[in-house]
Amino acid sequence: MSYKLFIPGPIAVSEKTLRAMTQPMIGHRSPDFVKLYQSIQPDLQALFYTKDPVYLSTSSAWGVMEGALRNVVAKKVLNCMNGAFSDKWFDVAQRCGKVAGALKSEWGQPVDPEAVRRELATGNYDAITLIHNETSTGTMSDISAIMAVVREFPDVISIVDTVSSFSVVPIKKDELGIDVLLTGSQKALAMPPGLSIFSVSERARTRAAQQADRGYYFDFLEFQKNHENGMTPSTPVIPLIYALQSKLEDIKAEGVEARYARHARLNDTVRSWGLAKGFKLFPAEANGSKSLNCFANTLNVDLSALNKTLKSKHGLVIDGGYGKLKGKTFRISNMGDETDETIAELLVALDSALEETPKLAV
Ligand SMILES: *Cc1c(COP(=O)(O)O)cnc(C)c1O
Repeated sequence: MSYKLFIPGPIAVSEKTLRAMTQPMIGHRSPDFVKLYQSIQPDLQALFYTKDPVYLSTSSAWGVMEGALRNVVAKKVLNCMNGAFSDKWFDVAQRCGKVAGALKSEWGQPVDPEAVRRELATGNYDAITLIHNETSTGTMSDISAIMAVVREFPDVISIVDTVSSFSVVPIKKDELGIDVLLTGSQKALAMPPGLSIFSVSERARTRAAQQADRGYYFDFLEFQKNHENGMTPSTPVIPLIYALQSKLEDIKAEGVEARYARHARLNDTVRSWGLAKGFKLFPAEANGSKSLNCFANTLNVDLSALNKTLKSKHGLVIDGGYGKLKGKTFRISNMGDETDETIAELLVALDSALEETPKLAV
């Protein structure tokens, strides 16, 4: 059975992207691969707003999220936590044997720059992790304000996850002073899962060079050494690199500013629909994500019944809440290739499915 995903990752992948993946295989040490790798570098650097190299990791985002800790944390890392993914990063730091500090906000609250300043001012930290867009709660933090604080502490290496916001809003790596900026393939970029894309500052590479236990697979220095020859350390997921090449063409053809504007418009359309129905946004509206809307289930809709109808009658799927928010919130993605038409179709289908769906007894 085929259906279309409006969950916040993985999301629908276009026919063009899927076709790009079916190109014949090439050797990953061949001139053809080097040409492919080097041909996409300038467009990647433009999208990351950076002069630093952009590396390709055959892993989901967590690989690089864990690897970055192993590369740059010598003393102690501050983990900014305000949702499922950022909470987990604190756990992962400890599993890597790192000394970690938890800077907790309520789920649905953005990361508070002043709280970051208070923590970093203790002088205990040499790294910080931040999730720009907490996908679990649809909350976007003010990355400019937070990075302005982080820049006051030159010993602190910043690791920023933009898995669900990359190419949705501009995130200017060099201007903001972000050391490690990472994203994944299956969310905002609308590719299948399996590739993580990240850019690393020279400062972060210098830190990595002093770290004894950074391992091999995610070693920044291995990535850099291979990058200089237009290659990756180990055999990469070549079909997804073809997909990335195709996606970069799409972004260029649309124009990146038009892409940002489209995401903002579609996000507004979905948000207005939900508020008009009587749902509330889960985070404060000012902190709502631009790539998805996470609504509080204030009308007590039976979300699993809703999704069942939506899927069986309309071939569409939304998300019924992440982790401890399951049943209490629902999330609708407007990432990737969605258009005014596809979002309008979804909302018509949702209207119809909602009419058939019982309310839960309170
Ligand atoms: C999905 C997601 C991740 C994890 O990505 P994987 O591809 O499962 O490794 C990390 N951070 C954010 C913000 C996400 O949305």
